[in-house]
Amino acid sequence: MNIKSLNYEAINLRDLYNLTRNAPKLKARNSKIYGVRPFKRNEQKRFVFWVKSNESYSSPLGWFVSFNYPDMDIRNWVSDRKRTPMSEDVKIFCSCPAWIYWGSLYWSNAYDYDLGVSENRYPIVRDPKRENMICKHAIRGMNYMRKKGFRYLWERFSKSKLDFASSKLRASIADFLQRQDKYEYSEIDEMLDDIQSDPEGAEDKLVELGVII
Ligand SMILES: [Zn+2]
Repeated sequence: MNIKSLNYEAINLRDLYNLTRNAPKLKARNSKIYGVRPFKRNEQKRFVFWVKSNESYSSPLGWFVSFNYPDMDIRNWVSDRKRTPMSEDVKIFCSCPAWIYWGSLYWSNAYDYDLGVSENRYPIVRDPKRENMICKHAIRGMNYMRKKGFRYLWERFSKSKLDFASSKLRASIADFLQRQDKYEYSEIDEMLDDIQSDPEGAEDKLVELGVII
């Protein structure tokens, strides 16, 4: 399939939402945001949410969805009402299997809203009609941001901190790392201890491991 004609220079959340089928939109209502990452200190362009779905067949551990606004100039944007989380060019990655295997990762490359993780295998079986532009976790994060706007997000994200000692958060990170098929269990435990013992450096560590982007 020639996707050239579909290629965008950039795309915003409103378009991504409109291009996505209904099922993940409905499922997103049944998800909760359990944690909010602070801004990366030296690059204040990003919001990361830890989203957990309440459906019985979903992982109870939750996933990390990263939204990056490459043009963000937050100090000016908070006072500019025309700029909203829905209207600005965005790049997204979710650590969930739906994002990676059911089309979103492929389409994020094709439409240039990826965060550097590449996938060039066309989802011929799982999403041939291009309906899974974003997953339910991204929709949940989007719904949160849509209601709040940049000013609130800026204030909230400047303050919030994830509790890396929380067993639920540890389990969620461990689950993601186990799925990479790269690490022994003992290695994962060590990495989690490192993260827990150095909350200041934890975000960089999670980025290094690919948990958040
Ligand atoms: Zn997801």
